[in-house]
Amino acid sequence: MDFMLPPELVRFQERVRRFVRDELQPLDAAVEATGQVPERAMEGLRRMGLFGTHTAKTYGGLGLSMLGSCLAIEELAKAHVAFYFLSGVNVHIGSKPIELAGSEALKRRWLPELASGRTIAAFALTETGAGSDAAAITTTARRDGTGHYVLEGAKTYITNAPVAGVFTIFATLDPARGAKGISAFLVEAGTPGLRIGRIVEMAAGRGAAHAELILDRCCVPAENQLGREGTGFALAMHCLDAGRTHWGAYCVGAAQRLLDLAVERASARETFGRRLREHQGIEWMLADMAAAVHAARLVAYEAAWRYDHGGPGERTRAAATSKLIGADMVHRVADATLQIFGGAGYSKDLPIERIWRETRVVKILDGSSEMMRRIVARDLVREADRRNAAL
Ligand SMILES: Cc1cc2nc3c(=O)[nH]c(=O)nc-3n(C[C@H](O)[C@H](O)[C@H](O)COP(=O)(O)OP(=O)(O)OC[C@H]3O[C@@H](n4cnc5c(N)ncnc54)[C@H](O)[C@@H]3O)c2cc1C
Repeated sequence: MDFMLPPELVRFQERVRRFVRDELQPLDAAVEATGQVPERAMEGLRRMGLFGTHTAKTYGGLGLSMLGSCLAIEELAKAHVAFYFLSGVNVHIGSKPIELAGSEALKRRWLPELASGRTIAAFALTETGAGSDAAAITTTARRDGTGHYVLEGAKTYITNAPVAGVFTIFATLDPARGAKGISAFLVEAGTPGLRIGRIVEMAAGRGAAHAELILDRCCVPAENQLGREGTGFALAMHCLDAGRTHWGAYCVGAAQRLLDLAVERASARETFGRRLREHQGIEWMLADMAAAVHAARLVAYEAAWRYDHGGPGERTRAAATSKLIGADMVHRVADATLQIFGGAGYSKDLPIERIWRETRVVKILDGSSEMMRRIVARDLVREADRRNAAL
């Protein structure tokens, strides 16, 4: 086993690290204060190719492996989460439905737009009545007999919906068929019958919006169906594997930033005549944080590697494991960092409380931690059953 990353990926990661440090982090406070991402940040993200890290070069992306894409996301996670919501989310749940199931015409039409960041894509699965149990969605699609599908229903919490130029919308042709009744449709913004509803205020992530999506007799040409009828749920899960793999890497990057800040603070701050880092209570906190970040990083890189090289079962379990471990790890690291900073950490004077709020969401979106445990446990028992059957 070789633990060295490919040198070209290390060089790329260093470039992204410098970009994040020099061009994004200085804007963090302004994004939080104003709720706006400045155009110069968007230009920088586009220049660095961060809207299309995992998109094939043929379609205008950087054509990186999943590992390369995750190394970029690990760095992006060291700045305000709005930058990641806008660009990184485009890479996985934004572009993946088209990459995996779009016709060649749809790929040529949309992927270069998305990879360049000229257009942002949104992924609309969740509804008020169906989040974790995504197969229970009630947004319907029906054939209208003229080569179109008509979509009816409503989605919620859809990341980037107010700024998206194109949406992947999941709808059921037959609710009685559960997951097997679901299909995916690519719908351009401005299509009659597609409307952005209420913007949902979240605990964190100012600068990136999550909104309701209303579908009122929204007519979509049949050629905009992604994959065949009834394959939408499987497509959503494949896209979410990519999303979860990226979120695992995101957690590692955000936690590394927190750990660096914690070490800096523990070195500078004195109590009882000694630097904080010389008190054993703090030393142990720093050691636990460093060990947890290291372990999560190995799991995140392994998940990326399995996405690139493994079969579907391995990919799904590794992605779920990485997101589960990463979400828990970054939550603990954020809390410990805030504790080390004391009152300053809880105050809005420093970015700690913001990162603490921002990282909490990883336990919820793209499948909650409970759903990640469900995936892992089910794979585990399937494996045990197979072993027993072979005896
Ligand atoms: C900031 C943000 C951005 C989002 N972006 C998008 C997006 O772009 N597109 C999109 O489609 N969705 C998006 N979502 C929705 C997100 O994917 C859902 O919130 C998530 O899947 C959980 O669904 P829910 O909120 O309906 O919770 P519920 O499904 O109601 O679950 C509530 C709680 O119960 C737990 N639970 C549920 N069932 C079980 C069970 N069987 N066993 C144990 N525990 C269980 C869950 O883990 C959760 O903790 C976003 C959400 C947020 C917060």
